[in-house]
Amino acid sequence: MKNLPGQDRAKRFLQQLHRRDLIPHALLFSGLAGVGKKAMAHQFAKLLNCLDPQDHDCCDRCNACRKIDANVHPDMIRVLREGAFIRISQIRELRHQLKFAPFEGIRRVIILEDAHKLNEEASNALLKILEEPPRNNIFILNTPEPRMLLQTLLSRCCHVRFQPLESTWILENLVQREGIEPFSAQKAARLSLGSNDRAQQLSRETLSQWQELTSQLGSLPTLSMSGLFRFVSGWVKKTEDLEEDLQCIKFWMRDMVFSVLLADYEPIFELDPHILHSLNRLPAEDLFELYDHVEAAAHHLTLNANKQLMAEGLCLTIRNIVHGKSHRNPISQVRQGLPL
Ligand SMILES: [Zn+2]
Repeated sequence: MKNLPGQDRAKRFLQQLHRRDLIPHALLFSGLAGVGKKAMAHQFAKLLNCLDPQDHDCCDRCNACRKIDANVHPDMIRVLREGAFIRISQIRELRHQLKFAPFEGIRRVIILEDAHKLNEEASNALLKILEEPPRNNIFILNTPEPRMLLQTLLSRCCHVRFQPLESTWILENLVQREGIEPFSAQKAARLSLGSNDRAQQLSRETLSQWQELTSQLGSLPTLSMSGLFRFVSGWVKKTEDLEEDLQCIKFWMRDMVFSVLLADYEPIFELDPHILHSLNRLPAEDLFELYDHVEAAAHHLTLNANKQLMAEGLCLTIRNIVHGKSHRNPISQVRQGLPL
């Protein structure tokens, strides 16, 4: 565990459990995707079976450690979702495996990745297992969304919270281990929200898409109204992940707001000086409301709002803002036939 980045509190807690020999039969690791939950579960499984633990950490050298690293240890079970869910058949299969004592390990470790994807039947079946846990079996449930788990399941688990990783570590990792050039790596690290997976995806693919999207949004004032609606229609059809695009717009807005309010702020995106000039003329409250508007759009999207309408409202707001006008309710102004 010592070589994993960050998560000192989680490491200390898990090592303390080992020191006191008080290992709960079910642990819940929660935190953003890409902050090290999976790697920690793997290392903890090694520690629980290590034949020569050192200072309450696995040795990485013994037979058990090497077998777990090679994914050939018979007492290490990983349950991954099949398609969209972890299904009842997988939990039934697991229940069958648990009838036997661990084969060669000290404890059998069962890691459920994306535990929030347990469907209802599978959740209830797992709950039954956790209500009467077989001896020497330790469950680790990994999830970025603990609130999506059954409350009864949550109450059976010892909850370990994982924090976002330091952006300095993420930057170093991108440059030194992943070979990403420093300029892009720095942007990706700042946009990663502390997730290494996200930073890698940003630096390889998403960052250039985001840069293109923000540059198109910055050009909205040059479009006619029909051009704006055509742009929105094309964007909604083309995008693979509108939720991610809104995340990008939030960062872009944040970049603009901070650039206006903080003299020494270094923006992540290339910002159009005309837009910054327009934003300078708006009261600070309007800038913050603008950011809230994007948050609200993202929230509506999670409630299955009409994507086209949501994107149109957002683009009209952005267009008004970069014109230096009030951004309030532009879509209702359109509906009422008022001039924009
Ligand atoms: Zn070992």
